[in-house]
Amino acid sequence: MDAYVGKTRVRLLQGDITRQDTEAIVNAANSSLMGGGGVDGAIHRAGGPQILEECKEIVARQGRLPTGEAVLTSGGRLAARYVIHTVGPVWQDGRHGEPELLRNAYYNSLSLAKKHGIRSLSFPSISTGAYRFPIEKAARIALSTVCDFLKEHAFDEVRFVLFSEKDLRVYEEAWLEISDS
Ligand code: ADP
Repeated sequence: MDAYVGKTRVRLLQGDITRQDTEAIVNAANSSLMGGGGVDGAIHRAGGPQILEECKEIVARQGRLPTGEAVLTSGGRLAARYVIHTVGPVWQDGRHGEPELLRNAYYNSLSLAKKHGIRSLSFPSISTGAYRFPIEKAARIALSTVCDFLKEHAFDEVRFVLFSEKDLRVYEEAWLEISDS
């Protein structure tokens, strides 16, 4: 899927986020910023130790990263120049502020990218792996948050990189729902 929201190209594709050539990629990190499984582990493995070093400095300075917030490091050996680390919510039952916190994770990542003059970035499907956020709901929140942001601020490109074909289909479906409404 390939579309424009204002001047920004929005793409949904299946792939590995560590291989994207956007200026920044977003990491679905945890509050410790010490790496982990899933996309977080993949980014640290592919990017090398520099990213973890910078994460440690951030934690030493400001402590653990609260859910919904975002911070920036370099991309180490990645093609991407920067990694934006954000923490999505762990899904409990949807009544513990999970939708709002997921929205914050996307919104604060986009704001941080803008603040640093970043022109293109790739998102994974935040919170829908180990954090168990139902992907149909998460996809709608992800895409609507990004679309709303793009109505106010333009990038060259925003990419959603879904790991499986099934996840890509869910995001494509959510995109159609959002563009209809
Ligand atoms: P969270 O803890 O926020 O749920 P996970 O990393 O467990 O984060 O999962 C988030 C999503 O990232 C899942 O859909 C998972 O399949 C996907 N994922 C895992 N590795 C990669 C990768 N290399 N590129 C893109 N997406 C990935």
